[in-house]
Amino acid sequence: MASSPDVIVIGAGVLGLCSAAELAARGHAVTVVDPGGANASAVAAGMIAPAMESLLEETTPERAALLRRARDLWPAFAETHGLKLRREGAEWRGDDAGAAMDRLSALGFEVEAIDDGVRTSEDWRVDVGPGLAALARVPGVSVVRATVQRLSGDTRRWRVEAGDGRVWFTPSLVVATGAAAAVEGLPPAVAGRIAAIQPIKGQLSYFAGLATSAVIRTQGAYVAPSDGGVVIGATMQAGDRDLTPDPDAANDQTSRGLGLLGLDHREGVVRVGIRGATSDGLPLAGPTQAEGLHLALAPRRNGWLLGPLVARVVADGIEGAAPVPDAAALDPARFD
Ligand SMILES: Cc1cc2nc3c(=O)[nH]c(=O)nc-3n(C[C@H](O)[C@H](O)[C@H](O)COP(=O)(O)OP(=O)(O)OC[C@H]3O[C@@H](n4cnc5c(N)ncnc54)[C@H](O)[C@@H]3O)c2cc1C
Repeated sequence: MASSPDVIVIGAGVLGLCSAAELAARGHAVTVVDPGGANASAVAAGMIAPAMESLLEETTPERAALLRRARDLWPAFAETHGLKLRREGAEWRGDDAGAAMDRLSALGFEVEAIDDGVRTSEDWRVDVGPGLAALARVPGVSVVRATVQRLSGDTRRWRVEAGDGRVWFTPSLVVATGAAAAVEGLPPAVAGRIAAIQPIKGQLSYFAGLATSAVIRTQGAYVAPSDGGVVIGATMQAGDRDLTPDPDAANDQTSRGLGLLGLDHREGVVRVGIRGATSDGLPLAGPTQAEGLHLALAPRRNGWLLGPLVARVVADGIEGAAPVPDAAALDPARFD
């Protein structure tokens, strides 16, 4: 049986669902196709962290400003789509707290000294499970459980075929498949761009019953509130897309994170996600040269932070609206 939504989004991670929610709020009927199960977005800590990510990644002032502008889209986005935005701030602890304070200030972030570190109110958070569920419930968004196996298109519409034989047609297709391989039938230039996305395995450990009132970071670890406990993360294992938990690789960060809470080492529940990353660390978002084909891919460590910005860029591209200035930095063609 075939149906014809205005837009089909392949992938129900944070980028796919944010794009779907934005499009639905603009009046489009959107079908999101995904097989279900945990993805990187569901494993993430949900930090919306322009300040600490700029500190850790040694970003330029321009990149820090872009991350801050992306964060500033969150209050209206969360309000519109029923996500709870937690403006708890974040702390940096360790011998290098003075240097962290100088660097954050130089990048224009508000920061204050606290007893054993520095604190910024500029980093926020969302609870990822409830957040994804809220996005999937947005009126106008329907989520279908299936794996897209094959695509074909002409100038008018895309044919989207699932592994179970279901078929949909749409004039506008958004590929938001995370770090997965390119779906068969994509134009070679787009498939090549997807093949160049680097997988980065990330592991964090969940501890039920532990608590922190805000995200605390130090070199090599963070502790963040999560679902009646905390998560301690996260490894960056470039080139690795193996979803098998490997507690040994997460041991050091777990000890550091527990140390931030004044606790000795213990085992948590290790969770694994694979991030997709481009060579400049920003996502591929917006229209491609193929008619009706749009990308929302590869946000590296900042998929949650960048979700509303990617959604806006994707929706503007589908509607043919003037792109926001930050769209240029995400343009899928920038590596051509
Ligand atoms: C441990 C860890 C902690 C993190 N913490 C944070 C954080 O605190 N803040 C932050 O901003 N970011 C964080 N990140 C990064 C963030 O999780 C990613 O950047 C983001 O989740 C990527 O979202 P996505 O939508 O691109 O991909 P994904 O979440 O991987 O979603 C892609 C979806 O596409 C689907 N798919 C793939 N192929 C097909 C197909 N052929 N047919 C149908 N569906 C398909 C998959 O099933 C999947 O559901 C973290 C990541 C990890 C691993």
